[in-house]
Amino acid sequence: MNNIDEKLQPLLAEVIRRNAGEAEFHQAVREVLESLGRVVAKHPHYLELALIERICEPERQIIFRIPWVDDKGQVQINRGFRVQFNSALGPYKGGMRFHPSVNVGIIKFLGFEQTFKNALTGMPIGGGKGGSDFDPKGKSDAEIMRFCQSMMTEMFRHIGEYTDVPAGDIGVGGREIGYLFGQYKRLTNRYEAGVLTGKALAYGGSRARTEATGYGNTYFTQAMLQKTGTDFDGKKVVVSGSGNVAIYTIEKVQSFGGKVIACSDSSGYVIDENGIDLALLQDIKEVRRGRISDYVKRKGAGASFIAADKGSIWDVPCDVAMPSATQNELSGKNARKLVANGVIAVGEGANMPTTPDAVKVFQDAGVMFAPGKAANAGGVATSALEMQQNASRDSWSFAQTETRLATIMRDIHDTCYETADEYGEPGNYVMGANIAGFVRVAEAMRMMGVI
Ligand code: GLU
Repeated sequence: MNNIDEKLQPLLAEVIRRNAGEAEFHQAVREVLESLGRVVAKHPHYLELALIERICEPERQIIFRIPWVDDKGQVQINRGFRVQFNSALGPYKGGMRFHPSVNVGIIKFLGFEQTFKNALTGMPIGGGKGGSDFDPKGKSDAEIMRFCQSMMTEMFRHIGEYTDVPAGDIGVGGREIGYLFGQYKRLTNRYEAGVLTGKALAYGGSRARTEATGYGNTYFTQAMLQKTGTDFDGKKVVVSGSGNVAIYTIEKVQSFGGKVIACSDSSGYVIDENGIDLALLQDIKEVRRGRISDYVKRKGAGASFIAADKGSIWDVPCDVAMPSATQNELSGKNARKLVANGVIAVGEGANMPTTPDAVKVFQDAGVMFAPGKAANAGGVATSALEMQQNASRDSWSFAQTETRLATIMRDIHDTCYETADEYGEPGNYVMGANIAGFVRVAEAMRMMGVI
């Protein structure tokens, strides 16, 4: 607790008491509170208005049963969640995660982060998150469809284009969004395209949405590198993960002249000193839904696979690290190794992938550090652009959409940089993101009275 202003310490204690056992949520709240000491010094009335307490408490939490029938005819049960965190700036907006680790604490941490991230985009979107402990691994298409239909049969009553707009996250991509949308349409008898984002182009999706999180993190990290007079050109880069965030980070880094030499999945990582072969990676992960070790089997000489229990991707020396897999995947020990190997910048593609002690290691060593709530906001920002296209019954070109994304990421970068400066922490993007995101939400709530 020692980095938290003493006026804010009771707030953290209260969040921990009220949300017992939800470690990831506590971690996310603690990290934001550490940045807010100077904010309450500047705006003391925020305490009187209980704005911080109100922002730490979700507006609504929905937990529900999802029964479905597997291919053998056996009935299965999963638990579904939708946490509607904050709607001060617009309808709740945020993804759905399907992963066995999902529980209410994880969804709350994600919804909390999402609220500030969405505020940073400058778009009219509040924060929410949902998901299920359903494990999509090894399930047939028909099982995925029945699961999604059952989930939507409960969820449809809670969402809507002006209420709450889910999208994808880990384990939820275009296929799942399609099944969810189809069931929503049947249940409501409304073609309400703006109720979900991440849709396929064929029925109201946005160009560049799949690419947006990875592209956005690369734009943000490039802007951060440029602030110190350098860029991606000629840099060695390690990108953890191999989902859509990682894949489109790799594509954009390569287009900026960087060399991505390693990527991973939960089974281990591959290292390819010639640079990751993007077409091969996409075939393995997007087309065949295979394992990362297939990369080495198909690539042959020059590439090697290291199993997860034999080593960490963060042992690979690089100039720029872009963690794009999941929360708390980069530990203090990993950070010390990266620093010893000369890393100069870190851009978080995933949500909270760097542990708090690792963030401290980077900041103490003078490594530029881009927090996920700013750097990975390109995905949700493009979701907001999808909502805009749906509302105006329009469809923009790839170039038009990507140009908007690039401008948004540049603006988020500048907002974080300037806010850090204004609050006396130059170059501290964590402070800049937390303060700028928080103040936008807090100001909207203040103007709306006690809500
Ligand atoms: N799941 C993504 C995120 O963490 C995107 C959410 C969205 O597009 O609504 O920001």
